[in-house]
This record gives sequence, C-alpha cells and structure tokens, in this order.
Amino acid sequence: MSVDDVISMRRLFHRHAERGWEEFWTTAFVASRLEALGFRLFLGSEAVEERSAMGRPGGDRLAEARKRALAWEADAALINRIGDWTGVVALLDTGRPGPVTAFRFDLDAVETPECRERGHRPFDEGFDALDEKVAHACGHDGHLAMGLALASRLVSRKESLSGRFKLLFQPAEEGVRGGRAMTEKGHLDDVDFLFGLHLAGEFASGVVGAGCSDFLCTTKVDAFFRGVAAHAGMAPNEGRNALLAAATAVLGLHSIAPHHEGASRINVGLLRAGTGRNVVPERAELFFETRGRTSAIDRYVYERALEVLDGAARTQGVTVESRLAGGAVDARSHPDLVALVAEKALAVDGIDHVEREGRIGGSEDISWMMRRVEERGGKACYFIVGADRTAGHHHGRFDFDEAVLPRGVALLVALAEAVGGDRG
Ligand SMILES: [Zn+2]
Ligand SMILES: [Zn+2]
Repeated sequence: MSVDDVISMRRLFHRHAERGWEEFWTTAFVASRLEALGFRLFLGSEAVEERSAMGRPGGDRLAEARKRALAWEADAALINRIGDWTGVVALLDTGRPGPVTAFRFDLDAVETPECRERGHRPFDEGFDALDEKVAHACGHDGHLAMGLALASRLVSRKESLSGRFKLLFQPAEEGVRGGRAMTEKGHLDDVDFLFGLHLAGEFASGVVGAGCSDFLCTTKVDAFFRGVAAHAGMAPNEGRNALLAAATAVLGLHSIAPHHEGASRINVGLLRAGTGRNVVPERAELFFETRGRTSAIDRYVYERALEVLDGAARTQGVTVESRLAGGAVDARSHPDLVALVAEKALAVDGIDHVEREGRIGGSEDISWMMRRVEERGGKACYFIVGADRTAGHHHGRFDFDEAVLPRGVALLVALAEAVGGDRG
C-alpha cells in the first residue's frame, strides 16, 4: 500500500462518516479488506458482547443505517453477516509461537455537521461527509486508514513475524459506548501487548506523545422524568410537573461536593422538557455525565447523582428512570511500552520530537481494554501521533495534516516488529 493509498483511504472513510453503533458501511469496508488479506474475522455479535453495549440507538435508526450502507454500495453479503452489530476483530496467525499483539482503531464519526465552506479541504476537494449531520471531526478516519495499512504490512512481513496479531476495530468510541462491549467479549483476554493511538490532540505534526495515563473515568447517564399533564389555569393542582423536577435535579447535580481524593466533574449537557406554554409539563429528559480521576471517585459522583435524581423526582411527585449511556474507566500506559513507542517514533522519518507524557485530558474507552490486558499480565500503551489541525476536535472545520498518516503507519509497523518480531 503506497503513501497515496493511506491518504485516499482516509478520504474514503471521511466521505462515509457514520455515527457510533451505525458504522455499517465502515464495518463492511474494513471487513472486506481484511478478509481479502487473509485475516480471520469476528463480526457482528462475535465482535462485541451485546449485553455490555451502551448508548445504542433503537432498531429504526439501525435499520436506516444499514439501508444507507447498502445505498453507499457496501457489500450486501457482508452487511448480512454483520447483522445488527458493527465492529470487526481480525486475527492474523503467523503460525510461529509468540505473543499476541493487538492494535485498536475506532470506527465512528462525530454527530456534528461538516463545514461546507471554501477553505475546508474535504469540501474543496469533494470528500466531505455524505451524511449532512455527521462528520469525521475527530480523526478516526485517519486511524482507520492507518489500521488497514498496518494490516497489509503485517501480511507482507508475515514470514519475519511471530505470534498472533489482532486488529480491533471498535464501534462507538464517541461517548465512550463501545469499548466495554468489545472487551467483555473476551478479545483482550489473551493479549500480551496492546497499542492504541489518537491523531492530533495538542501535538503538532512531527511530535509523538509516547504514552497517556491521564484517563478520566466517566459515566454517561440519560434520565427520564415522567409526571402528569394538566391544564395550567384550570387544574394545575392535578398536574405533576416533570420540568420542575428536572430543573431541581440540574441544580442538585451541579452541587455535588467534590471528592478529597482527586478531581471530579459533572455536567448536565442537555435538558428537554414540556409540550406547551399552558400545559403542566408531563415529561422531561436530562443527559449528564460524571467524571473522576479514579473509578472510585467517578462512582461516588454517579451514586450521589442517582440520589439527587430520586430526591428531585419526589419533590414533584413524579417518577424518574435512568439509563447508562456510556462509560470509561481509568488506565495507564505501561512504562516499558512508553519507552518503546518513544524509541521507535524517533526512528521514523518526519517524527522529530517525542513527549513522554501524552495527554488525553478527558476520557477514552480503550481504557476498558488497557485495564483488561494489564489485569491479565499484559502491557498496554495509548499514544498520540501529533498532527497540525485546522480546528479543535469535534468542530465542523476539523481537518488534519495527512502527511502524518504514513509516519503513523511506519510507527505501528515498527512496534509490531519490535514485540512480535521473529525471536527464532
Ligand atoms: Zn472524539
Ligand atoms: Zn477521537
């Protein structure tokens, strides 16, 4: 695969941006390439544990997404094999004894419209997202292109490698919804070395952040208040006001005390309530998230939040139900692998500076995978491949310097050879 191929591949993924859990076109495309290369595939519910999926849309949205993938000329047989579950796990066995080395990439795009103005390269050059409401505004399109390029290099170098290689193409990273499901399916249980990466972040082209360990634990919650509607003039006393309960909850949630053991966060990001001016509001919904430096701190905020919801509902005589919409845990990059990434990065043409500590500054659900690998005695590392960018992540104007893609591939290949190289 040539340099141009990584870039044209990235543009193809960019054009076919899909929301989390709805990445049918992307899953089918990745799967067809990997199968052609000789990887053994785990698709659909073989790739993810259904019970551990979070924040998945309803059946209508999934059916629509499948239909759209077919309209975009996805392989119909593969769409059938995928069923309702996106995600691909691909295995390459070198046939020689050795470690299991895994690389993780993310399939989904961001729910934000792409900029359609001159000066935004995807628009200027005709690879802007086909779906008006979704854009690859985080760089996952680049991750996918690097993942497929790595796959092809592994196959062409198979004779000089040992052990097994696993490529994990995870659904629904945005909103930290899919990482747990792929972990719970057991795909990380036998992994000795796990690498994950993100493009750009706060690093410019030519810089690599060799290992991140500042993952915040987070829990995403959707809460639904249900009251009783009534005429606001004639019979307000007969109503049960869900809007007021939700408003009370918002104040209560933002008043949860911090924890002495470390940083915590809470944010109510969305509140929708009511039907009309003269009706006592019957329904309200509230989407919020908690975060904590450790799982224990996040759990503390989350449990307090559930009490607040309950109390707020009682003040108005309404009911409240909450649903887990996503979550990630804390994790750390293993120092041995951080050192290895740093060493291999500096040997790549075009990478001239390495920062030992990459920074995520938020949450990433590869943390479920990293934690599982570490619990089983393996080592994991999550690093940042710096890239000049035109706007912040998740902004409709986001685009990045594609010249870093071949360098990222070179780094991934070097890592594969370092840990899965032939020891014979
Ligand atoms: Zn993102
Ligand atoms: Zn991202």
